[in-house]
Amino acid sequence: MNKFSWYNAKSVEEALQEVNATVSEALSPKSPEAPAVFKSGGVDLLDLMKEGLVKPHKIININQIEGLDKITYDKKDGLRMGANATLAQIEAHPQIKETYLALHQAVAHAGTPQLRTMASLGGNLAQRTRCWYFRSIHHECLRKGSGTCFARDGENEYHAIMKNGACASVHASSVATALLAFDARVEIQNSKGKKNEVNLADFFVAPGDDSSRENILEADELITAVMVPPTSSKMRSYYMKQGARESYDWALADVAVVAEMSGTTCKKASVALGAAAPVPLLSKPAAQALEGKILDEATASSTAEAAMKGATPLAKNGYKVPLFKSIIKRTILAIA
Ligand SMILES: Cc1cc2nc3c(=O)[nH]c(=O)nc-3n(C[C@H](O)[C@H](O)[C@H](O)COP(=O)(O)OP(=O)(O)OC[C@H]3O[C@@H](n4cnc5c(N)ncnc54)[C@H](O)[C@@H]3O)c2cc1C
Repeated sequence: MNKFSWYNAKSVEEALQEVNATVSEALSPKSPEAPAVFKSGGVDLLDLMKEGLVKPHKIININQIEGLDKITYDKKDGLRMGANATLAQIEAHPQIKETYLALHQAVAHAGTPQLRTMASLGGNLAQRTRCWYFRSIHHECLRKGSGTCFARDGENEYHAIMKNGACASVHASSVATALLAFDARVEIQNSKGKKNEVNLADFFVAPGDDSSRENILEADELITAVMVPPTSSKMRSYYMKQGARESYDWALADVAVVAEMSGTTCKKASVALGAAAPVPLLSKPAAQALEGKILDEATASSTAEAAMKGATPLAKNGYKVPLFKSIIKRTILAIA
């Protein structure tokens, strides 16, 4: 690991004056000479440093910024989670469990209790993919500036089965899967003090658009909060994840369903898929298959089929298609 200096930022403004690169920029051939990057919990940043991919000159610790971990909930305004809120804080929040069950479930199944105590929400959304070619210093893959995705014709058992034409990596955040289904928004502040809100779906960048980054963040931007709209008593949600191990792991497949019900009929639905594509995906065909239907075994099966219709599995990850179908079906039946 390289030598670096450490800066404890006391405010968002102070942090934004010190930073000069996103981690994606710092690991690219266009890295500034002395990259200064943010660290919240450090779970992903330290991994990238130990892997030899990022060599920061300065680490800006944003973890001690007062109030940036605050979680507030209001029936009318919904949920607001500060970027430094840890996954453990979100998991333990009683109103999140009661009102946004799928989010609680997604967070509670991410990593281990120790990791969730360190990991922040902002860092979770900005973490880089776990694709083993990307994480290997010996592979100059598409995401690191070459023209080649090694996973497409290589070891691709954990990789994307949808939208995998340019790059077959999957996004690592399973928390994003639930947030996407709830139509969450991300608040971003820049060094000029301007605050901007974007839909979470627009926060992620597909490799076909720009393979060097996984989100829209610029060097002088910091996620300050994630907001989730209020729910109604007619809304139900559920989240399911399948990993290679039950104890701790990133998802092989995960799904979140949020449905507005009228009795046993689904009036409006949102179905989000994680670990299916390079970005977390909202499945329109799945939502359409649910809306206006009674949530029963037949609807759950046809929704799972609709969600996987456009799948383009690679040589070693065909098993993910029936895996997704199975957890989509089980998730729908869990809210029926
Ligand atoms: C064994 C293991 C299993 C895991 N399993 C899962 C899982 O199942 N699901 C899942 O979702 N995750 C999983 N993770 C990933 C883990 O949740 C993330 O690494 C963690 O949430 C990152 O948060 P952090 O605060 O530590 O981020 P950091 O490492 O501090 O930062 C990560 C990145 O985000 C940037 N950053 C941090 N905060 C901000 C901000 N506010 N604004 C802008 N940029 C910011 C940093 O510069 C860096 O690029 C797992 C990790 C491990 C090690």
